[in-house]
Amino acid sequence: MSPKWLVFLITVPVAMAAYGNSTFEQTCLAFKPQSYVFNSTLNILEYVPAGTNLPLTGNDPTCSRTNQTAVNNLCRIGLTIPTSNQSSLIYEQWLPEVWSGRFLATGNGGTDGCIKYEELAYGAQYGFSSTASNNGHNGSSGATFLNNPDVVTDYAWRSLHTLTQAGKTLTDAFYGQQHNRSYYIGCSGGGRQGIKSAEMFPDGEFDGIVAGSPGVDFNHLYAWRGRFLTVTGAVNSTNFITADKWTGLIHNEVLKQCDGIDGVMDGIITDPDLCHFDPSPIACSSNSSTPASNSSDCLTPAQVDIVNTIFSPYYYPNGTFIYPGANPGSELMAVTGLYSGLPFTYSQEWFRYVVLSDPTWDPHTYNLSDTILAEDLNPYNVRTYPSDLSAFRDSGSKMISYHGRQDQQITSFNTERFYQHLQDGMNATSAELDTFWRFFRIPGMFHCANGPGAWVFGETGGASAAGIPFEPSRNVLAAVVAWVENGTAPDTITGTKFVNDTVALGVDYMREHCRYPLRSTYIGGDPKAVESWVCLDPATNSTSA
Ligand code: CA
Repeated sequence: MSPKWLVFLITVPVAMAAYGNSTFEQTCLAFKPQSYVFNSTLNILEYVPAGTNLPLTGNDPTCSRTNQTAVNNLCRIGLTIPTSNQSSLIYEQWLPEVWSGRFLATGNGGTDGCIKYEELAYGAQYGFSSTASNNGHNGSSGATFLNNPDVVTDYAWRSLHTLTQAGKTLTDAFYGQQHNRSYYIGCSGGGRQGIKSAEMFPDGEFDGIVAGSPGVDFNHLYAWRGRFLTVTGAVNSTNFITADKWTGLIHNEVLKQCDGIDGVMDGIITDPDLCHFDPSPIACSSNSSTPASNSSDCLTPAQVDIVNTIFSPYYYPNGTFIYPGANPGSELMAVTGLYSGLPFTYSQEWFRYVVLSDPTWDPHTYNLSDTILAEDLNPYNVRTYPSDLSAFRDSGSKMISYHGRQDQQITSFNTERFYQHLQDGMNATSAELDTFWRFFRIPGMFHCANGPGAWVFGETGGASAAGIPFEPSRNVLAAVVAWVENGTAPDTITGTKFVNDTVALGVDYMREHCRYPLRSTYIGGDPKAVESWVCLDPATNSTSA
């Protein structure tokens, strides 16, 4: 345990619950959570000793979570909580025996209704009374949105709000004292949920929010993602670009043009804003003897157009912006998703079950009229694109966002766009946004996790997060806690890259991630040494924005 970590633990209030003459286990088993939450039904009440590998037999198989190990002793609660006459939440709460006095809500992803059990275990491990829900529907599919506006309402905002109200009530009842602070952590769809809460419930629903890779401007995001199939064409269509071509020919050319801009050829494009990829050097020459199609070593004219379209912003015909272009580098992972020539499931489901209410809609027919319809419909203001978060700021709450710069599902350019949108709407300088919202760009990180960059910084639970200390300089959840409770705002967050992404193999390197608009800048020396990089404002070359 590092001295820094000790200091952090000591300087924050640590509440120890009193269980009277009962053991924690007895207190757990005697608790009646259903009596505190209106109309709720008890599904699970169990004491879980540290190290238990819980089988998640009741969990929808499409959520791909079959078991979860609890790190510490805890009380596990499962409820069904109605949100209307025709909708409800599946609710889980993990209450640790050693409680920090803090409450934590966790989010979901995509259009899914999957509890992230790894986040429950993560929160409980660090003393948070931790909650999650199925987002109002079970499993990875959004089919139950069809003709059920209440399920869509739950998805748009109500599930997180309901679980948070229930979770705070149950936390206070269980420990017999009021929680001190409330927090939220989520990524992707979960990032959107966090920003939605700051928009809709700014007055202290959460004191601190971690909103990663957020799916903001939701209707346009889902249209942008739905459009890829019509850009790439279907698998085996005449100009379809195969995965091999994306990850070989094209990725190599992306690295050739973009990797060295930061001064280090290491497979990481530190700032893809500076990389204006031009596929023409790998275009098939007009007098080439190789066939114009099916050649692995060049792009046909139509394929050049496809690549250019993917890396360019998406506009309405009148020039109105829809969504930014993809991140160069995204091709490594997007070949199994947006560039796969297959329908992108989340978009397909959103259009089928919500926008068009037509389960037979063919995603190959996607066009701009579908985008317009989605944006006009904007059910329950799922858009999540606030231009003003001053109420959140004025309540004293804090939020941290981050975005991987090699994101294959939500282009990181959109969070920069959202930053500008907030600056414009609030007439705020970066220094003013920094007082309540800080945005960190993570070079070489894919969507919400993984990648060649230093991507481990506590953004999600699991084995990698367990390999770093829970201290504000290394862990984003600890950083937002320190900001809320000690007023210590994070200037940087240091990410860790483990050798082969395996904690047991040790640290490969670490890097300080910079808050926007500062840019991670190589100043010489060993590229893997933290001190070889500094955060500079590209406009002034100074270390402050
Ligand atoms: Ca590089």
